[in-house]
Amino acid sequence: MYAPPVQRLITEFGKLPGIGQRTAQRLAFHVLRASDEDANALADAIREVKLRIGLCEVCFNLSDGPRCRICEDGRRDGAIICVVEEPGDVIPVERTHEFRGLYHVLGGALSPIDGVDPEDLRIAELFTRVAAGGIGEVVLATNPTTTGEATALHIADQLRERSPDVTVTRLASGLPVGADLEYADEVTLGKAFSGRTSL
Ligand SMILES: [Zn+2]
Repeated sequence: MYAPPVQRLITEFGKLPGIGQRTAQRLAFHVLRASDEDANALADAIREVKLRIGLCEVCFNLSDGPRCRICEDGRRDGAIICVVEEPGDVIPVERTHEFRGLYHVLGGALSPIDGVDPEDLRIAELFTRVAAGGIGEVVLATNPTTTGEATALHIADQLRERSPDVTVTRLASGLPVGADLEYADEVTLGKAFSGRTSL
């Protein structure tokens, strides 16, 4: 129906989350209408982000160096670690201003049906960080979904065995069930943070 380069662009846009076939077509036609400068700026931005952004060697958050800005920030409280599923979950927690500790990004949630087992996430790396000492509390801020809850329970069980002196907490309920942290408003998320409970 379209010339192969146009079809290729539509196919690529269609792989983006929340983008259906019609939206993919609209985006492709938008790029075709755009100036060479704007279209190249988009292509360059995608290329550069893949080239320059990697994962922090400590917390696995996105970073443009070996360590992310939060891990490098000496004013952060290194005795408390907030565990989230995805790098995108760090931003909403930061926006609440309720948390001044460090993060640990798992890279997903446990879901045996989808073949996501503990070794597919950065769970062992979390245990190593906690075992290294100096950690007083681990806040489990995985999403209030079935997989997020299962992940929180798994980590809490393991931490109780491996590091019994460390307090393990979970965000207070009040977050919309089944929703992603990413979409929680900052007041609700802030309250969930300050009202977190021991697991
Ligand atoms: Zn980091």
